[in-house]
Amino acid sequence: MCRHLAWLGRPRSLAELMLEPPHGLVVQSYAPRRQKHGLLNADGWGAGFFDLPEGSVPRRWRSPAPLWGDASFASVAPVLTSHCVVAAVRSATVGMPIEASATAPFTDGHWLLSHNGVVDTAVLPTCSGAESVCDSAILAASIFTRGVEALGELVAEFGAADPNARLNVLAANGSRLLATTWGDSLSMLHGADGVVLASEPYDDDPRWVDIPDRHLVDAHGGEVSVTALEGTR
Ligand code: GLN
Repeated sequence: MCRHLAWLGRPRSLAELMLEPPHGLVVQSYAPRRQKHGLLNADGWGAGFFDLPEGSVPRRWRSPAPLWGDASFASVAPVLTSHCVVAAVRSATVGMPIEASATAPFTDGHWLLSHNGVVDTAVLPTCSGAESVCDSAILAASIFTRGVEALGELVAEFGAADPNARLNVLAANGSRLLATTWGDSLSMLHGADGVVLASEPYDDDPRWVDIPDRHLVDAHGGEVSVTALEGTR
């Protein structure tokens, strides 16, 4: 299972979000605290961000190498600043390719999307435009085709079709974050300056709350809602 993170709020640097916290994504890439599947997240990393509140092209930087060894990213990350970020470190599922195009975040040009988990792609609707044969890339293309706004319903549908699926998905479009829990952990820190969603807390701030399994988080306009997914109440 990978570890992922999203931020929506005041502009923050990628270093502040990913590299500087005591248990940030770079530490989670070799010493995650809550990972149930896999020990390391060494099969690549990705960071995506928006430069305007809405309507802007998402910018991405992805690599198939471990985040901890990327000195170039570490040198630039302090000046890459955004109000809306999706980032991930990857532990590839057995049989999946290790390549930048298999690494989250995926995009349709409007949304950035990360998947923490595994899914049998045979249960997904036929779609085109997947960036890789990796299950997460095909899942992302399916969600883009059906509409990210319906993320909660889609995860419940795909999860019902594949009982072994784990479907923690994070998506952002510059002004809204959507996230599901389906088989793995997710925590939230909602402060005055914004909201961060992460597979596990990146520090020991007591304001972190755990999102229960099979829930949808929807954050926009300073408001956050957490609701049980359809059919699982
Ligand atoms: N199945 C996805 C992959 O192989 C995600 C893996 C994960 O969450 N560890 O990249």
